[in-house]
Amino acid sequence: MGHLALYRQFRPKNFDEVIGQDAIVNTLKNQVTTGEIGHAYLFTGSRGTGKTSCAKIFAKAINCLHPVNGSPCYECENCKTDDGLNMDIVEIDAASNNSVEDIRDIVNNLKFLPTNGKYKVYIIDEVHMLSINAFNALLKSIEEPPEHVVFILATTEVHKIPKTILSRVIRFDFKLVSVEELTKLLKKVFVASGIKAEDEAVVAIARSGEGSVRDALSIAEGVSAYAYKDITYLDVQSSLGISDSDSLIKITDYMYEGSLGKLFELTNNLYTSGKNMAVFAKDLTLHFRNLLIINTTDEANDILHLPDEEFEKLKSQAQNIDNAHLLFYLKKFSDIEADLRYSISPRMLIEMTALECIRELDGKLQVSP
Ligand SMILES: [Zn+2]
Repeated sequence: MGHLALYRQFRPKNFDEVIGQDAIVNTLKNQVTTGEIGHAYLFTGSRGTGKTSCAKIFAKAINCLHPVNGSPCYECENCKTDDGLNMDIVEIDAASNNSVEDIRDIVNNLKFLPTNGKYKVYIIDEVHMLSINAFNALLKSIEEPPEHVVFILATTEVHKIPKTILSRVIRFDFKLVSVEELTKLLKKVFVASGIKAEDEAVVAIARSGEGSVRDALSIAEGVSAYAYKDITYLDVQSSLGISDSDSLIKITDYMYEGSLGKLFELTNNLYTSGKNMAVFAKDLTLHFRNLLIINTTDEANDILHLPDEEFEKLKSQAQNIDNAHLLFYLKKFSDIEADLRYSISPRMLIEMTALECIRELDGKLQVSP
């Protein structure tokens, strides 16, 4: 299976298959049903949250002869035209077509009526990549487009869109997709693809997707290629290079106790076993955050989504460390996150940071074995 094959295969074809964006989907369905279509939309949000999928579905739906519950029917002649051959839906990647000439080409063609459907839809992806002159060329058309034209602009970086454009579009903010929604989707995809996976493995993949359907499915694909047979939690951990919780728990204990010798021993072991120390530092930061969440919230695992056994281990550690220490660790390790990327010795950076934590919190350095 090629990379992102799952993502393409399971790309939603109608609004009911879009996950995690109920409010947006309902509004768009309503507009299709009532025929009250706007002329310029802006879809913003992180990658993999469904912007382009929704744009494609909406474009098809407003040209569909018999939409079903606001989605395209896939039966009528407009729906049946292949995406590549459909002259009424024009997809532009602004990352590679960002000049003023590119936009003028579009603007000059707006006067032509759609070939089959009621609307000519222009989907401009990564629209923040347009040059300022290109934006200006687009502005007038967005202000007073011909009746048959609909623009759908999509972007991950809404702060780069000029205010003049923002004030003329109907804006939809796509949310990050929750771990629960991603888990549900992954389970469906695994069943449909004949892939077997432990529940804890599925949740771990969903968590690693960090709100993006695309990332979650691409991770799922990587892990399923890596796993020998059924996907286990261990497979997910090792294929993604996630640090095992035992090392994270140990190093935290050593910091709290001020056991420098043991701390150096542990970082040395991790380093010589080939662990990426920059990743380890990131996981450690996350670990401190997890402990803080456990100490401060009632239903912590609703937020963390950790396997039960791992959650219990973290819980017993969290109970033994006060929040002031955790907060200090978290702050110190967040501060070095940027440095880690450029450091020639992330291991040393971790050790020095741990050392600073011990010194600043306890006022003294005790070198115990
Ligand atoms: Zn149709």
